[in-house]
Amino acid sequence: MATKTLDMKPGLLNYIHQYGVRESAILQELREATQEKVGPYSVMQISPEQGQLMAFLIRLMGAKRILEIGTFTGYSTLACAMALPETGCIVTCDISQEWTDMGRTFWEKAGVAHQIDLRICPADETLNNLLAEKDLPSFDMAFIDADKTGYDTYYEQALRLVRPGGVILIDNVLWGGAVADPALKDEDTLAIRKLNEKIHSDQRVEMSLVPIGDGLTLAQRKI
Ligand code: CA
Repeated sequence: MATKTLDMKPGLLNYIHQYGVRESAILQELREATQEKVGPYSVMQISPEQGQLMAFLIRLMGAKRILEIGTFTGYSTLACAMALPETGCIVTCDISQEWTDMGRTFWEKAGVAHQIDLRICPADETLNNLLAEKDLPSFDMAFIDADKTGYDTYYEQALRLVRPGGVILIDNVLWGGAVADPALKDEDTLAIRKLNEKIHSDQRVEMSLVPIGDGLTLAQRKI
């Protein structure tokens, strides 16, 4: 969830894709290749309009170092890397060699592979290793889009890894609308709902829940 924005009528969504997004040919190619090769799993890919927003934020902030938790087939990684300056880099975490290999092909084709530091390892371990480094906090932005029951751990780790004024983006915070249905109590829904409530009252951050894609929370570490 979700390659498109929730509850958006197809005609309006097409209009947004036509006039609200400047998706490069290489991003389009990766998005379509993902849909073709991983079938139903392709819903784990972010929507083009979300990639556009993330790239915009990166340029707006002048971000140079990004942390991504959940690479999948590398669409968001590529969208972010292409928005970085030549000196910028993105550390991206995943546990799937197969899916990330697919992304790497496109990262190389786009000429940004040297700016992408892929760590194949459970993300909490990678984040703990980053937390053990000397020059903390070292990231301008973090994007959390991995296993939902791990979200709270990743959020707490990211909050220490992102500089004051830096932003943490959390994906799938609407979870197909399930968060607003109290009858739904599966562990993923409960984990997301709990984190949404926590961030809402978390005085360490400024926040905004944006209803793009499957819901994207922007949380800025207070300066
Ligand atoms: Ca997602």
